[in-house]
Amino acid sequence: MDTVETDVLIIGAGLSGINIAYRLQEAFPDLSYLILERRENLGGTWDLFRYPGVRSDSDVYTLSFPFHPFPGRDTIVAGGELLDYLADTAQRFGIDRHIRYSTEVRAANWSSAEQRWTVTVAGPDGIGELRTRFLISATGYYDYDHPHDPRFPGIEDFTGTVVHPQFWPSDLDYRDKRVVVIGSGATAITIVPAIAEDAAEVTMLQRTPTYVLSRPRRDPSDGLLRRLLPAGPAHRAATVKNIVGNWALFQLARHFPAKVRALLLGRARRQVGPEAVEEHFTPPYNPWEQRLCVASDGDLFRAVRNGSVRMVTDTVDRVVPEGIVTGSGELIPADIIITATGLSIKIFGDIDMIVDGEPVRVGERFAYLGALLSGVPNFGYCIGYINLSWTVRSDATARLLTRVIGRLRDGDAAVVTPRLSEVRDSHPLMDMKSGYLARSVDRMPRTTGRYPWAMDKNVVRDLWAVSRASLDNGLEWSGTRESDPAAVRSSRVRGPASSRSSGI
Ligand SMILES: Cc1cc2nc3c(=O)[nH]c(=O)nc-3n(C[C@H](O)[C@H](O)[C@H](O)COP(=O)(O)OP(=O)(O)OC[C@H]3O[C@@H](n4cnc5c(N)ncnc54)[C@H](O)[C@@H]3O)c2cc1C
Repeated sequence: MDTVETDVLIIGAGLSGINIAYRLQEAFPDLSYLILERRENLGGTWDLFRYPGVRSDSDVYTLSFPFHPFPGRDTIVAGGELLDYLADTAQRFGIDRHIRYSTEVRAANWSSAEQRWTVTVAGPDGIGELRTRFLISATGYYDYDHPHDPRFPGIEDFTGTVVHPQFWPSDLDYRDKRVVVIGSGATAITIVPAIAEDAAEVTMLQRTPTYVLSRPRRDPSDGLLRRLLPAGPAHRAATVKNIVGNWALFQLARHFPAKVRALLLGRARRQVGPEAVEEHFTPPYNPWEQRLCVASDGDLFRAVRNGSVRMVTDTVDRVVPEGIVTGSGELIPADIIITATGLSIKIFGDIDMIVDGEPVRVGERFAYLGALLSGVPNFGYCIGYINLSWTVRSDATARLLTRVIGRLRDGDAAVVTPRLSEVRDSHPLMDMKSGYLARSVDRMPRTTGRYPWAMDKNVVRDLWAVSRASLDNGLEWSGTRESDPAAVRSSRVRGPASSRSSGI
């Protein structure tokens, strides 16, 4: 494998990697960059998840890139459409030419003497090394290979088929079968109505209810904006409307939880009736303490109402050969069990990061504006919002990192390192009570709750802070481009022209 050197190396060709690549090449057309992707395709989440009905939960105006509006008319869109859209974006802007597929980043070593990262990768040609001045992790937030596994007792004795939605077999035939979906999150809520018509029986078995909000697949107010305005302004107006709408709901939920709870439960009652809401749609926590889930055009409520889905709110006591025995002793017979039991968090793709010989323990580091890491030079990462479309933060992060890299190109310094002098308080970066986040707080970067060491769930405040950041408060700029050994080495650089270092 060639020893390629680039100005910027991006890990991950999902939505965030494509987003960052676009912003970087837009600002610095001569900058050299590569995207390393461990899978054989781009798209990340939207390529991995293939379960029936897979779709966005958030509106496509905020989920698509501001620089390339999503072309369709629906507000909630199918996973396959999002994947096509990401592929189209990468191709349209020439980003796909910078992607190396089937290349997994295993380790990254920073040398202050070299002012470089040396990145160890496993690719089609074996193990190799790449060098870069600036490293960006756009690896998403969960483990692609190991979803959360609650280890239901007896599951190995089940005589039917067990499927995790993360690995949906394309040939799974659920027609006329009895299916039990275990879970109450967005995935279970999507799969259950999608398979209800074809399966013989579908039971959604949940331990804890979730707030479910019915949203139209095609929002008439977005349609109205399209009719009144040209395409670009209509998209921007719908984006602003949806950011403000989500922000307002989140703020109301924080400040007036009882009122928002009453509002959500009232809407659910109108859809599915008071008894079902009492039993299966009344969570024991306040709205937005965990993620709110969406039923597209009220599909889950409709399926419960017409009897094609049965809800059971109970624990799993054990799995037996013919089905599941609940905590209250009921046997639910099943041919297929779908364990929609959630994700397992993985930050920065579990890469072994070393700075001048010292291993970096991510859970002990602090997040600078949710995009850089305390004590780690020339390193950025992209983590999106969990209470709004991921892309809104991914694009804000991409712009911030572009500003940081711009200063390294145009200023005197060659190295930027976030430095936090005093810690009074500390919280996990993705702070919510959802099980999958709570299980992994010790592996996440921390925040102090005070900017620039914060990433507030008040997205309007957060977007303001990120876009107005001074880049002096909390960041140490050091090294000089004259002391940079690259100038000496550039004549030795090998690899494709597009990945040669031009100097940032
Ligand atoms: C089922 C589901 C539904 C969702 N619905 C929504 C929604 O409606 N709205 C929303 O805003 N968000 C949603 N999300 C969040 C979703 O993850 C984001 O929308 C977005 O796709 C994240 O993009 P990303 O590029 O940051 O991460 P990912 O999509 O996870 O992509 C990361 C990429 O990095 C690669 N990678 C990881 N580690 C390495 C490594 N070591 N070396 C090389 N490559 C590596 C992966 O293979 C992958 O391609 C959903 C998530 C899930 C799981």
